[in-house]
Order: sequence, then structure tokens, then C-alpha cells
Amino acid sequence: MTVTDLVSYEDALATYEPVMGLEVHVELGTKTKMFCGCSTTLGADANTQTCPTCLGLPGSLPVVNATGVESAIKIGLALNCSIAEWCRFARKNYFYPDMPKNFQTSQYDEPIAFDGYLDVQLEDGEVFRVEIERAHMEEDTGKSTHVGGATGRIHGASHSLLDYNRAGIPLIEIVTKPIKGAGERAPEVAKAYVAELRELIKALGVSEARMEMGQMRCDVNLSLMPKGSETFGTRSETKNVNSLRSVERAARFEIQRHAAVLSSGGTVVQETRHFHEDDGSTTAGRIKDNAEDYRYFPEPDLVPVAPSREWVEELRKGLPELPRVRRNRLREEWGISEHDMQSILNAGAVDLIVATTEAGADAASARKWWMGELARRANEDGVELAALPITPVDVARVAALVAEGSLNDKLARQTIEGVLAGEGTPDEVVDKRGLKVVSDEGALGKAVDEAIESNAAIADKIRGGKVAAAGALVGAVMKATRGQADAARVRELILEKLGVEG
Ligand code: ADP
Ligand code: MG
Ligand code: ZN
Repeated sequence: MTVTDLVSYEDALATYEPVMGLEVHVELGTKTKMFCGCSTTLGADANTQTCPTCLGLPGSLPVVNATGVESAIKIGLALNCSIAEWCRFARKNYFYPDMPKNFQTSQYDEPIAFDGYLDVQLEDGEVFRVEIERAHMEEDTGKSTHVGGATGRIHGASHSLLDYNRAGIPLIEIVTKPIKGAGERAPEVAKAYVAELRELIKALGVSEARMEMGQMRCDVNLSLMPKGSETFGTRSETKNVNSLRSVERAARFEIQRHAAVLSSGGTVVQETRHFHEDDGSTTAGRIKDNAEDYRYFPEPDLVPVAPSREWVEELRKGLPELPRVRRNRLREEWGISEHDMQSILNAGAVDLIVATTEAGADAASARKWWMGELARRANEDGVELAALPITPVDVARVAALVAEGSLNDKLARQTIEGVLAGEGTPDEVVDKRGLKVVSDEGALGKAVDEAIESNAAIADKIRGGKVAAAGALVGAVMKATRGQADAARVRELILEKLGVEG
């Protein structure tokens, strides 16, 4: 089916109610792998971070990574789940070359965390509760690279390379219960859920959850049922969607595609699908019926995991403030709208602004610099705000120099430019570039006098009550002082000297 065969989104939603299920895999940021001591550092040469255990060599024995379990419990608790008193790992048997053991060590009917929920906030501020089925521990596979084909896919490749450095890196898989009742907002709910989960994971410090690096990826299950029906339709499962925007687009596309199939009298096939970034479409992967048999059985080489209640309670006490709660608190403290807060969040500026206020700036100027000048620069350079070579302490210092009147807006921007160019701290840049506001009243007074003298006609107008004309004289003085005067003070001086009231 091609994109043109779709039913329009509005028509699809007029007839059907979407049901979604989101499966999110998070790669934990542990130093070592889930069942062996191999390093998890990215960027190493292929197959240099492997050992008999993660290569599945005969006679090797796995050992559970305690930090991996701790991270899983933290995630479970933050998702309001129950934590199993006792649970086991299981072998999920299947063959694929990126999995040298011939089975994935996972959890099956005994997940470490189950029955929770995550409240997500939609763009209009409404809160939608997404129920969590389970969060379980497992391990990542290796990585295959298909060489010789045009698209990097196995189809048409001459050979494939395998790197097992990733094999055995701990994963937590978080599975939602079927999400219904979202209607036309289903794609927005999917995106908001993954966004909220990502913030949560980062706040817990268990993973950087960078989707563009595959540290967090989402499978989007979707089906439609006729409005008013309670019987779920057949689902498709769009695999490994790796950005927030793609999650939303994939759900939207599948709603339109399912509607097209159903309304033309066809049946939806239960299958996996691939998402395509370029046109936002999905195409069929492999057929997946429920009888798919992995021959799960309890892992005989690992002892059960039985976290003590004391440990669980200790971890619960150590949980950070939830991102949504923190965001709402900051939004109120800063006195800004939902919409402004959303922009700050999208720009990745929340923590930077907080750090800048902690370094002494008031929230309004911290926001102004990060969301204005610095956001513009980050955008121009195509980097994240946090990657700019300027610290919250620097920004707070610039704000302080403005507040005390040493810098005006324009000079502050030049100071920031100097810091970004590697010329040093704000004070060093101000010194080297000679960027102090001319605050010497004598020098300023002289510049004002000169401006009045050489613009006699304008000065007369101002004397005659046309105060708005003062702008031209302010401009002349700013020019004469190379922008290094406080414009408000210059205006005051002009009006004072011409004997009119501002
Ligand atoms: P699988 O291993 O086949 O992917 P899981 O149970 O791990 O199965 O995940 C299936 C996901 O899809 C869950 O989030 C579940 O809530 C959801 N789901 C189940 N049935 C449907 C359906 N008919 N339509 C949409 N989502 C569904
Ligand atoms: Mg699945
Ligand atoms: Zn290993």
C-alpha cells in the first residue's frame, strides 16, 4: 500500500477508536554489562568489549549486575509499579547472528516490576494516565552492519559484519497496558508518554536515554476498533522508532492505514512494520502471530532476584522529584505559561536555567539569555544548548553585569559572543574587548551636548514638546560612544538638558 491509499486522519477518527501499546527499551548507563564484567563504553573497536559469557561460549557463567537490578527497581518505583519480591530471568530462544548465545536472557512471566502508571501532560495542560503492564530486565543484542547494498539493509548486501560490543548491555523494557480513550489525541499521547518517560529516566540518573543514539527506542503497537466497540482489533507493531516526532508520526500513519484496510473490507495483518523517516510511512516487516514460540524457560544459570523490602523502601526514599511535578513547580516559580515552559523543555533549557538561577541570576534574565541569544546560536551551529561552550555560571555573571549597569544589552551580547569564541570568562572578555558601558557622567554629558549641538533642529522639536524625537538624539549618542552607553540614562540626560519632562 502506498501513502495515497490512506484514509484521511479526520475520517479515520470519525469511524474508529485507536488502541495503542508502547514498548520502550532503555539501555542502562551501567559501567559493565548485565551478566559479565565487560565495559559498556561506546565507540570502542568492534568486538573488543566481549568475553566468553557475552559471546555465549560453552562453560561460561553469567552473574547479575547489581546496579542493573537497582536501576530496574528505581524505574519500577518511579512508574508506580509493584516490585516483585522474587523473580527470575528466562531464556527467550531464537536464532539471529547478532545474538551469539542463541537465546536472549530476559524476563517472561516474572518481571521485576508490574502494574504501574505514568501521568503525562498534554500540550494543553491536560493530564492523561498511561497504565504500565510491566518493566523487565533483559540484555541488548550485538550490532550487524550489512555491507555492499544500497540502503544498508541486508537485502542486496554482499556480506555482513558483526560487532558484539553491545551484546549483553542491560536493557529495561517498559510495556504499557493497552491505551484507549485517547481518540484523535492518540499520537500526541504516544509522543508525550515517551517524552515523559525519557525525562523520568534521565532524572533517575539510570541512563542518558538519548534516542538518537539508540539508548531509548520505542515499538508502537496500534489497532483500531469501530467506535462504541470494546473488542480490540488486530494490531501492527512498528519497531524501533527512535525519535519523539517519529513516535507521533508512526501512530498517525498507522491509524490512517488501518482505517483504509478496514473500511475497504480488508483484514489487518498482525505483523511488525518498519518506520521511514523520509515520508513518515511504515512498511511490512515479518508476520507475527500470537503462537510465535520462543520456548521461554527459567534461566538455570542465574539465581532468582529477591530484592529485600528494606532495599526497595530505601530506593523509594531516594527517588528524585518527578519531572512533571518539578516542571509545574518551576513554571509557577518563574511565572510563565504552559506554552513557554514547553518551549524551554523542547530546547533542553530547563536544567541550564535552573543552574543559572542557582548561580545568582534572576529567572527572567536566565530565561531570556538561554532562550534568546544562546538558543539562536545553538540553532545556527546545529548543536544542543548544553553543548555550547558557555556555562550557567558565565550566563549568571553576564546577567549580573547587566543588572549592575556595567553592560547594556548589546554589550552583553558581545560578551557572550566572546565567551562562545573561547576568549575567556565574561569578565575577561569585557576587559579584553573593552566592553564597559560609558558610565562616566562627564564623558556622557559631553557626548550628549555634542549630539544636541549637531542636531539643532531635532533638539528644537524636543524643546517644543515632541519628546518622541529624542530617539534620534539617543541614537546619535549611542553611535558616538560605539554603543557603550546606557541608552536609558542617555535619554534622561537629553531631556534634562533640553528642559523637558520625560
Ligand atoms: P509482543 O511481545 O508481541 O510485542 P507485548 O505484550 O510485549 O507483546 O506487547 C504488546 C503491546 O501491545 C502491549 O503494550 C499491549 O498493551 C499492546 N497491545 C496488545 N493488544 C493490542 C491491540 N489489539 N491493539 C493495540 N495494542 C495492543
Ligand atoms: Mg513487542
Ligand atoms: Zn562479556
